[in-house]
Amino acid sequence: MNTTDFLPLTRPDIDEDTIAGVVEVLRSGWITTGPWNTKFEQSLSEYFGGRQVRTFNSGTVTMEVALRMLGVGPGDEVITTPLSWVATANVVLAVGATPVFVDIDPITRNIDTAGIEAAITPRTKVILPVHLAGLPCDLDAIFTLAQRHGLRVLEDAAQAIGSTWRTRRIGSFGDYSSFSFHPNKNATSIEGGCLVLPPDADPGLVERLRLQGVRRFGLDGMDVDVLGSKANLTDVAARVGFGQMQRVDGFNRRRTALAQAYFALLDAFGLPARGVQLPVRDFESSNWHMFQIVLPAEVQRAAVMQALKDRGIGTGVHYPPIHLFTMYRKLGFEPGQFPHAERVGTGILTLPLFPAMRDADIARVAEALSTVLREFGL
Ligand SMILES: *Cc1c(COP(=O)(O)O)cnc(C)c1O
Repeated sequence: MNTTDFLPLTRPDIDEDTIAGVVEVLRSGWITTGPWNTKFEQSLSEYFGGRQVRTFNSGTVTMEVALRMLGVGPGDEVITTPLSWVATANVVLAVGATPVFVDIDPITRNIDTAGIEAAITPRTKVILPVHLAGLPCDLDAIFTLAQRHGLRVLEDAAQAIGSTWRTRRIGSFGDYSSFSFHPNKNATSIEGGCLVLPPDADPGLVERLRLQGVRRFGLDGMDVDVLGSKANLTDVAARVGFGQMQRVDGFNRRRTALAQAYFALLDAFGLPARGVQLPVRDFESSNWHMFQIVLPAEVQRAAVMQALKDRGIGTGVHYPPIHLFTMYRKLGFEPGQFPHAERVGTGILTLPLFPAMRDADIARVAEALSTVLREFGL
């Protein structure tokens, strides 16, 4: 196999118009936050039903600012899932608060909403659900609980741009919603993120938290009244993100069609009967950010990944459970606390899925996976 045939796990799709637009920005004399950032924020606001949106230079800092907007700090608890990118829990620690994990539902792989209520204490401030792989969490259950207990909700929608809950786009309703534009996400600004604000949030404060807490007035006035970050998005990045927003719905439709093709072939190869768990078959509300299978406990995931790599196919792990990382173990978390997250985290494997994939690529992955798993006795 020639290396040019390597099929990566994912690949961003930047069109020529966007590339030309980036060159124009570079030649314009204004390359950091400016007119294109404003245009990008406006296009995002339109996408999210007219709500206020502010951009950031990462999805991580976006969530951190949201927690600061919610006044979360030392002594406060934030309820979240142990099966996510570590940023989800790291931002809770970054503001001095305590992450409280609730185990996942092993079928959806999202936080098990039935377990949230038992984790609520007088210190709980925020529920931080993650729409893993773009499959929406049960937001009816989450907002009902939040209302009953006087809690706020920050959706980690990093993977969920274009996903819907009961036909409404994630981010177009609810409380705070945070998105990421990392190159692996369904829409990218190289690096970046955005925060969709609830009506009670002051966009001016969000902007100050984004940039050193600085407030300007008049021609020469400046004051700082809050400790802000350095998290503004460049216009070069914003131009890329703006170009992606014109195409994100098309990307998501293509991802959905490719996911359906995976199911048809993996079913035909009998993978579910051979002990491989496929994702939830949701072709209405998920944006198919990832197509993830869970391997049975008896096969070694790394060996399967190596065998697929040898056949020119890239795969990934999203994610090992957060509570088992050394830093979290030092905080007192232990193996066995969240058994579903541990089982799924040990067996989960992300297969290639990106809009430019051809149907033949899906067939190649499905066939290779079936062959490899047979070699491992499945
Ligand atoms: C990507 C991601 C983030 C962080 O976004 P960055 O832009 O990489 O900082 C947070 N949470 C989840 C679930 C993610 O997938």
